[in-house]
Amino acid sequence: MTEPKIVLWDLETIPNLSEVMKIMPSLSDYPGLTLKASINSIICFGYKIYGTKDTNCINIWDLKNKNINDDYELCKIIQDTLKDADAIVTHNGKRFDLKFLQTRLIFHGLPTLPKIQHIDTCTESKKNLLMFNNRLNTLAKFMTSEEKMENGGWELWVKVLQGDKRSMKIMSEYCKQDVVVLEKVFKKLMPFINNLPNHNRYSPIEKNLCPNCGSSRVHRNGFRNTKTNTFLRYRCIDCGTSSHAKTDKHMLNTA
Ligand SMILES: [Zn+2]
Repeated sequence: MTEPKIVLWDLETIPNLSEVMKIMPSLSDYPGLTLKASINSIICFGYKIYGTKDTNCINIWDLKNKNINDDYELCKIIQDTLKDADAIVTHNGKRFDLKFLQTRLIFHGLPTLPKIQHIDTCTESKKNLLMFNNRLNTLAKFMTSEEKMENGGWELWVKVLQGDKRSMKIMSEYCKQDVVVLEKVFKKLMPFINNLPNHNRYSPIEKNLCPNCGSSRVHRNGFRNTKTNTFLRYRCIDCGTSSHAKTDKHMLNTA
């Protein structure tokens, strides 16, 4: 193990109409309003393992059980992909995606995810920047050349519910593109993030890698003085993260 496993991911969900009808029949007219995981299911899981090339999307309709409202198999795959991650990255996943997933795992009697370092680009943006709003697309347009894909809004969700093949394809592409955009925004926010696993702990020999991105291109950048100590300060050429160490024999860590 020379690198931490960091997984960027995103979910698309859809109302399970038979569950929705049990609670409130009229809700079925408004799929966009039925976000609770107890009456919805997961239909797409977009993810990328940081540092690898491919962005993947696993769709419920590509699995053995073609029932769009039975997400057992998909939940199992998601659980399996995320369970051994050293960190996960989502946008607004602290409020939505992770809770949604944990609820679905409980529903299916599957093991829930353990405590994993969770980087939420929405939270990081709120904490460190002064943006007009912190939606993923706003951040993407502002700091990258990438944008979220245009989708048909609720109509697309309704068409997917009705089994329209073209809409399913669009939904899957939409989910994938969200992960592509998420990664770009994540990279831009990286210098602010201080709960990523430290790359130096995964590399047996090196001690002077950038703790956040693992690059060896770190330059000395003066000193960092606290009340009781003076640290050597470094800056990563590749991601811009500042880090420090007590001496050059010590492991670099984010401040
Ligand atoms: Zn770096």
